[in-house]
Amino acid sequence: MKKVAFFDTKQYDREWFDRLDKSFEIKYFEEKLNPENADLAAGCDAAIAFVNDTINSKTIKILAENGVEILAMRCAGYNNINFKAAHENNLKVVRVPVYSPYAVAEHTMALFLTLNRKIHKAYSRTRDFNFSLSGLTGFDLHGKTIGVIGTGKIGQIFIKICQGFGMRVIAYDPYPIENPSFEYAELDTLYRESDAISLHCPLTEENHHLLSKEAFEKMRNGVYIINTSRGGLIDSEALLEALKSRKVAGAGLDVYEEEAALFFEDCSDTIVDDDVLARLVSLPNVILTSHQAFLTEEALKNIAEVTIGNLEDYFAGKPLKNEVCYSCTNGCATTDCN
Ligand code: NAD
Repeated sequence: MKKVAFFDTKQYDREWFDRLDKSFEIKYFEEKLNPENADLAAGCDAAIAFVNDTINSKTIKILAENGVEILAMRCAGYNNINFKAAHENNLKVVRVPVYSPYAVAEHTMALFLTLNRKIHKAYSRTRDFNFSLSGLTGFDLHGKTIGVIGTGKIGQIFIKICQGFGMRVIAYDPYPIENPSFEYAELDTLYRESDAISLHCPLTEENHHLLSKEAFEKMRNGVYIINTSRGGLIDSEALLEALKSRKVAGAGLDVYEEEAALFFEDCSDTIVDDDVLARLVSLPNVILTSHQAFLTEEALKNIAEVTIGNLEDYFAGKPLKNEVCYSCTNGCATTDCN
């Protein structure tokens, strides 16, 4: 039986993999994969990793030297992998391109609604029997404009949800879909016309800090920013300044630039050595969730099924429909290999 090293294990992952998998001997490790612990995979034929693992050239070399032939990402994104090193070390990489775009799109709307209708504040107040309404005024979504950056699987579902609320949708994507039910526009127009902006594109070298100081300056006063994609899409310092100046009325962030460095399982004793994060968290109009947008029963089941299927295909010598390779990431980063 092939052996698999499973990194960054959470109880909810293990439940689904144990329930569904009969083909592999899985060794579960709580550690996030990085160069210091990649040798835990010694003797394993495959490794399973996740979004915040450090899969740089060192990690990849150690995995390959220890017999790992394939790295199965149990997520859609792959910006944390050095594909050149994977190519040079003959390490295959597969992923789960879709597990539940609904999960992420619905969480995005949850963040937006919470921010706009101040549910987080109301919840705290009423638990103290404080029924004051002051400071809780929101606005109707109906008739407002939402700017959506990235109109792939998640972006399109989020757009439908927004349309259900009667919002006007304006979107930007370098690869627009055919016959959209919404308008496409250049980024400057989207910035200028949107009451809220939601990010649904992958993080690449080109769009790192897409939402920069200059981008915030082009936006409407009092815009809301929602990010359930990748933290690096937003310059956190620039966001903090934009929040302080009230240019941005509120931010709902499921992802954050430095999230990989944070220990989310039990932060109760952690002193967060990240001044920008500490200041963002302290603001009443910022809501942070810890990269949980994907976290539904349906998504976890799909992640386990597709990851196991990817490994079964590889060891059975079948074509890898969910492979991401070096050339993909150099030219066709949004499409699968096959
Ligand atoms: P997708 O590949 O279906 O769609 C991404 C879209 O972004 C594509 O249409 C692509 O053309 C577009 N795009 C690429 N570069 C762009 C740019 N510079 N500006 C605007 N658009 C650009 O991906 P998806 O399944 O919709 O996922 C979107 C992102 O959501 C992923 O890249 C990932 O970072 C994030 N995600 C987050 C979670 C979470 O739990 N928070 C879970 C899954 C995915």
